[in-house]
Amino acid sequence: MLSMRKFVRPVAASREELLVEVTLSPLSEAYTYSVPETHQSEIEIGVRVEVPLGRRIAVGFITGVLSERELQETFQIKNIHRIVHPAPCFTPEALEFYKWIAHYYCVPLSKVLETAVPDPLPIKIQKHWFATASRDEVRGIKQKEILRILRERDVAGISHFELQQLFPKSSAILNRLQELELAIREEKKEDASSFLTHPHLAEDCLPSITLNEQQASALGAISASLNQKSYNGFLLHGITGSGKTEVYIEAAQHVLAQGGSILVLVPEIALTPQLVDRFRARLELPLAVMHSSLPKRKRWECWRAIAEGQCRIAQGVRSSIFAPLHNLSLIIVDEEHDSSYKQGDGFRYNARDLALVRAKLCGATTILGSATPSVESFYNASQKKIGYLRLKERPYQTKQHSYEIVNLGRIKKGEMVSESISPQLFSAIQETLIRGEQVFLLYNRRGFARYLQCNTCGESVFCPNCSVPLTYHQYGQKLLCHYCSFTMEPPQDCKSCMERTDLESTPLLELRGSGTQKLFEELEELFPNVSIARLDRDSADSLSELESILHGVRDGSIQILAGTQMIAKGHDLPGVTLVGVIDCDVGLHMPDFRAAERVFQLLTQAGGRAGRREIPGRVILQTRLPNHFSIALTTEEDYHSFAKRELSLRKKLLYPPFRKLVRVVCSAAEEQLPIEQLRTMRLMIQQWCEAHAISIECLGPSPAPIEKVKALFRAHLLLRSEKSSELRKLVSIMKKHIKVPVNIRVTYDMDPQDML
Ligand code: ADP
Ligand code: ZN
Ligand code: ZN
Repeated sequence: MLSMRKFVRPVAASREELLVEVTLSPLSEAYTYSVPETHQSEIEIGVRVEVPLGRRIAVGFITGVLSERELQETFQIKNIHRIVHPAPCFTPEALEFYKWIAHYYCVPLSKVLETAVPDPLPIKIQKHWFATASRDEVRGIKQKEILRILRERDVAGISHFELQQLFPKSSAILNRLQELELAIREEKKEDASSFLTHPHLAEDCLPSITLNEQQASALGAISASLNQKSYNGFLLHGITGSGKTEVYIEAAQHVLAQGGSILVLVPEIALTPQLVDRFRARLELPLAVMHSSLPKRKRWECWRAIAEGQCRIAQGVRSSIFAPLHNLSLIIVDEEHDSSYKQGDGFRYNARDLALVRAKLCGATTILGSATPSVESFYNASQKKIGYLRLKERPYQTKQHSYEIVNLGRIKKGEMVSESISPQLFSAIQETLIRGEQVFLLYNRRGFARYLQCNTCGESVFCPNCSVPLTYHQYGQKLLCHYCSFTMEPPQDCKSCMERTDLESTPLLELRGSGTQKLFEELEELFPNVSIARLDRDSADSLSELESILHGVRDGSIQILAGTQMIAKGHDLPGVTLVGVIDCDVGLHMPDFRAAERVFQLLTQAGGRAGRREIPGRVILQTRLPNHFSIALTTEEDYHSFAKRELSLRKKLLYPPFRKLVRVVCSAAEEQLPIEQLRTMRLMIQQWCEAHAISIECLGPSPAPIEKVKALFRAHLLLRSEKSSELRKLVSIMKKHIKVPVNIRVTYDMDPQDML
């Protein structure tokens, strides 16, 4: 990106000037400034500066350094005003990566920087108190007490902050002690590395493990790539407990020995505390651990430690993909299939995809690990775009968990123990509780989409064009496709049953998809003396609450935990021996082309939660579709057949990975506005595609499956193409030329994960 001339004044410049490009939010291009001689030694890519912009002072990053000669014309350029933070906030290598992102997601570089780099905070100066050598005694109780503590702390001293917490309003006493020359005060700069997570002390370290043959061969391939120091991506596919984490750790040790640095991405730190602990126990360097609810200061200090090269291992959630590690050699993406790698607002990047991009840009190795890889990654592996490493067995013998299917279609209404609980599940819960073991019950809270389901065969009504379920709309009493807007009257009877048999009475289609929220109440009624907890996004808003629930499960004070897919994620909770899935079909009937994949992943993960090592686990799946491939293949633990089947459907129906998608969502307070806006946009798109020879297909517009969010009505339009470059071309044109009325909000989602 070259400098902008708009802003500068055309007056002759002096020859000695050092010029920099500064990227300022929200501007789409960098501006050029000159650097006064006093600051020239401090100029580097990534330094945060204040510059004059029009009549105000703006803050931005140096994203280019050029000499006077590089400017074709001579201009007098304004000086930068001040250096906000002297050390660079990112490396030149990271900047290349940010520029790639800006290009791919069609957003200004300034927007990427704004998202990526935390706001710098001034380095804190802390007052520290120390006891002097004087042994004089004092009279007041408080004085004595404070002095005792100071003497106890000896040379380490104690921070003013900590003292104020121990002894509120003690400033006067401290001053008095200082007057008596019994205490002294010193100012200390806070060190960024104090915000890092330090390795466990030697005695806490776990012994290292001898890898089994499969692990060793996976590690061999990874090490070979690390030795080459050129880009390679790998899919590490191994069932839960097959030893993937051991492979990550040994690969990380290899990198540390080579002097490189490591980035470890996890879906949610609070859900995978073991991973952090195990890295901490086995690697000898401090870690920067970055999760979503980190206080601002800690987030900035972790970033600073990384940018200053004080820290070579960063572990964190999706936003850590931006971390400015020096000499990055290895990126690990654990649970790569997890949809939380996709950012849900702003520019919607996918950290898993970016892990491959970043490695490619800097010649690093990426490991995508999962027990149930996304079919996209599996497809990449089958096309040899990335390597495929398989861990088939668990290193130690475990009692296998067993799957049991309860066909709800065969149970008469009166036979159900409650609305959601079948007699089979009920007795399994009872048996488990009697043995003193614990139960997980999974329900899909997103049961907002109502669909018609056949009582006999479990099928629902699908869109003939898009192969996603039609959802039922109360108002018009119609079935609607949320991809292409196809509508129909709700049919009276089930087509798939009619095709198979000629039954005398036609099976009824029934409306389903809500009511799962009631589960908690049902459980309290059925198991009055049992401690039941609930875990979902609503009840576990804060991390501490989440941790306390998980703690309760670990120490046995919670006997039944009911929750959304959150509870299926990587917890190692050995007391849980029964996992019940209340209604598998809710997930299958989502108007989302990834519905089958998500259900397969969820059920497989749920299976991984049931019983570990000594006690065999049971998984009970309640469904009306026992033969649906994603349920049947879960119970057979056959990922490969699942992936093949799913990929052949995607190919036939032209969904990713065979096509690229962009989802355009409009929202507005008035119901008709979003869809009308999208209709206009669609017409313009068609004209542009013709004019620029872009081949893109438009699906929709149609109301979004979640029609209303925060009082705004939503509609969406899907753009589909074989090439993402075509889509990018179109999106850039749209962003530039479409004038959207202020009362309508438009968002563009490249490679959307969320279709709701
Ligand atoms: P995953 O990450 O695939 O779920 P882990 O790496 O957590 O699997 O391994 C599961 C358990 O097996 C852990 O307790 C780990 O310490 C142990 N383990 C892993 N590899 C070996 C091995 N080669 N020999 C013995 N135990 C192992
Ligand atoms: Zn039927
Ligand atoms: Zn459709």
